[in-house]
Amino acid sequence: MEEKTIDENKQGEALILEAKKGNTRKLFIESYGCQMNFSDSEIVASILADQGFNTTTLLEEADLVLVNTCSIRDKAEQTVRKRLEKYNAVKKINPGMKVGVLGCMAERLKSKFLEEEKIVDMVVGPDAYKDLPNLLQEVEEGRDAVNVILSKDETYGDIAPVRLGGNGVTAFVSITRGCDNMCTFCVVPFTRGRERSRDPQSILEEVNDLAVKGYKEITLLGQNVDSYLWYGGGLKKDFKNASDIQKATATNFAQLLDMVATAHPGMRIRFSTSNPQDMTEDVLHSMAKHKNICNYIHLPVQSGSTRVLKEMNRQHTREEYMALIDKIREIIPDCGISQDIIAGFPTETEEDHLDTLSLMEYVKYDFGFMFVYSERPGTLAERKMEDDVPMEAKKRRLTEIIDLQQKHSAYRTKQFVGKTVEVLIEKESKKSDQYWSGRIPQNTVAVFPKENYKPGDLVMVKIEECTSTTLIGKAVGYS
Ligand code: SF4
Repeated sequence: MEEKTIDENKQGEALILEAKKGNTRKLFIESYGCQMNFSDSEIVASILADQGFNTTTLLEEADLVLVNTCSIRDKAEQTVRKRLEKYNAVKKINPGMKVGVLGCMAERLKSKFLEEEKIVDMVVGPDAYKDLPNLLQEVEEGRDAVNVILSKDETYGDIAPVRLGGNGVTAFVSITRGCDNMCTFCVVPFTRGRERSRDPQSILEEVNDLAVKGYKEITLLGQNVDSYLWYGGGLKKDFKNASDIQKATATNFAQLLDMVATAHPGMRIRFSTSNPQDMTEDVLHSMAKHKNICNYIHLPVQSGSTRVLKEMNRQHTREEYMALIDKIREIIPDCGISQDIIAGFPTETEEDHLDTLSLMEYVKYDFGFMFVYSERPGTLAERKMEDDVPMEAKKRRLTEIIDLQQKHSAYRTKQFVGKTVEVLIEKESKKSDQYWSGRIPQNTVAVFPKENYKPGDLVMVKIEECTSTTLIGKAVGYS
């Protein structure tokens, strides 16, 4: 039987922690990187809840400490190594605690992690979490434990996640795992394996459960959600060998969106992350058809230069990406769009950089995630290309990209001043405990005085002013 306790995270935000009665062991789990990792940590907490663990936010009292790691950039890995040093200090006052590393860095380093970081007892890859009870057994018997086998069919669809540190209003629901795209700069295909999709029935069951628990918004998650394809299990790449009946009854992403939106008209639906080369028009029509599918798309572009996109093995040109943006604006005129951009990819010239700036000018994104190129071990770019753009040039180009994005974000938020928009209250505003904070369908943050509203309420807010990132207004009633 589950019970809920209220606790606080580092930011002092109220955390809803699901705990199993009778469990006495304490699990401290923290996650880094993408939303997939946070969603996976909820799967891990569920698997370990069946082994007698409840989660705690106090490192000092933990029997087991797990860190779910990211490997997307070198900086992400350095962050994890710093945390392991912290665990070292805590181990002095809590010598019985066991330490495990999960996620992409665990998959990339494998047993080398044990050699490099002596505090680590267990290394578990993203597809091996069901083996945690056995691995824990090995550790408790004094042996180090490693399982980094990538799977052809694991989707954890049969595991009900234990919600961690959420606000009780929004939740992640993973729908696919792995990626087949092999972008030359990316480690994900090596750390998360080949693409496979989850049974739509198990996705619907998880959304039903969330609806019963009072959640108001879900984000359907995958490294590449647009290439979601369920045909009875197995790898996406093997679909070509599927039987005619399997092909005829397969469910693609547009159909899954339709299914979930129809089954839960009161639930807001978002999805992430999309890949321009896999996004199809029927996905846009599913979005336009259902008011509860938020009109927002995170559409990484990485570069505005067709030559650089080719070097990145992104299967589209600048022109094709812009045509997709036109199609989005045609079918969903007020759609919010955000980006990922890499500055300073190998061989990038000043001209290529200007192509990125001019593409941004064309789209005027709502916001974005922008980084300098970070060479990742084992990727094709690391093996075949020289990281030849000087750091000084990388940083200057990144600054120009961020400055332009800031200008465009301000342009986009200004569009809402004077308008009344629907906001889902998620939590207290970081800036003032007199204000609620939430997001509009376009995913932009909005804050307004609390009055008698509460988290989980869908409220109509008249926007009076804004910054480049936040809309500020006054509630005018329930949605
Ligand atoms: S689409 Fe490309 S960047 Fe995204 S996860 Fe797959 S390989 Fe990485």
